[in-house]
Amino acid sequence: MNKVTIVGSGNWGSVAAKLIASNTIKLSNFHDEVRMWVFEETLPNGDKLTDVIKQTNENVKYLPGVKLGQNVVADPDLENAVKDANMLVFVTPHQFMEGICKRLDGKIRTDAEGISLVKGMEVKKEGASMISTLISNQLKINCSVLMGANIANEIAMQKFSEATIGYRENKEAAERWVQLFNTPYFNVTSVQDVEGVEMCGTLKNIVAIAAGFIDGLEMGNNTKSAIMRIGLKEMMAFSKLLFPSVKYSTFFESCGVADLITTCMGGRNRKVAAAYARNGGKRSFDELEAELLKGQKLQGVLTAKEVYEVLTARGWVERFPLFTTVYEISSGLLPPSAIVEFNNKSKL
Ligand code: NAD
Ligand code: 13P
Repeated sequence: MNKVTIVGSGNWGSVAAKLIASNTIKLSNFHDEVRMWVFEETLPNGDKLTDVIKQTNENVKYLPGVKLGQNVVADPDLENAVKDANMLVFVTPHQFMEGICKRLDGKIRTDAEGISLVKGMEVKKEGASMISTLISNQLKINCSVLMGANIANEIAMQKFSEATIGYRENKEAAERWVQLFNTPYFNVTSVQDVEGVEMCGTLKNIVAIAAGFIDGLEMGNNTKSAIMRIGLKEMMAFSKLLFPSVKYSTFFESCGVADLITTCMGGRNRKVAAAYARNGGKRSFDELEAELLKGQKLQGVLTAKEVYEVLTARGWVERFPLFTTVYEISSGLLPPSAIVEFNNKSKL
């Protein structure tokens, strides 16, 4: 019998728990209970978030108003949460994953399989690594990924959407993940291209920051579409340079062009970047993130910085004018109005 634990309980983590719990209760090859690790915090009234989730069956901070399912068990103890699970779903902001993997080393079942819903990458002096690779290497487990056009609040309302699972070799494991996530309103397919799927989910967040600048500057739909087109080309080129095995067809799955569109239209990266541009870059991303997202996290600004480090280390800066400009604006080196000036340099 398969036993599932969700490592993370933010906005998407909570929706993933709800989706999965609605399936484990029906599927005979899964234990009903889904454990959800909660990064513990104290709410303004002094209550612990985990206690409130247990009492109300709602994540009142990150997904208010949505019942998770009685078989979701919130657990603030990371080691305890993972110890019995053979299927681990990782879904936290990417900057916390290295620390979490260190804490989990030697603490999980040796027969466990992982799946990462985390959109982001890790860059060190030694080079760039995808989060699924970090999980695989640190925990010595096989790790697939699930990415897609998946604004969590819409899926929580059971509005139809699609997602793509990327797997390496283990097709059987991928099918088990499809079975766990798929519902009539959440259509999941799989492709044998972990890096392609994960690069899509990671890089579209940089383009969404650019789209937000365009919105904040009220530059209109044509400009925003141009940014999305150029962004998609840079996503494809960067992914191929870093991982030559990436398949072009992956960019036409939900994880590719569909996620790019939804995030540029309605995501949190777009929202905060629009506010940044409206304020002429005078209020920091950190300040706007805290004010507008109330504890939820942006991934695009950090990813732009991480990708820029790869571009400089490899001598690729000139080939990626949009990614570079997003980094330069979001780090305060250029004003938001510079967002289309890269066009003068671009051959895209
Ligand atoms: P979130 O941004 O809503 O919430 C932030 C989470 O980080 C909270 O659970 C908080 O408790 C936790 N946290 C804060 N400090 C921490 C620390 N030091 N260590 C560990 N955890 C800490 O989270 P989310 O929306 O679930 O995003 C997780 C991942 O899923 C991200 O990579 C995101 O890009 C991706 N994603 C999000 C959505 C969405 O619509 N929300 C959709 C698809 C993918
Ligand atoms: P944001 O983090 O910009 O809200 O994007 C969510 C997402 O990844 C939708 O698929």
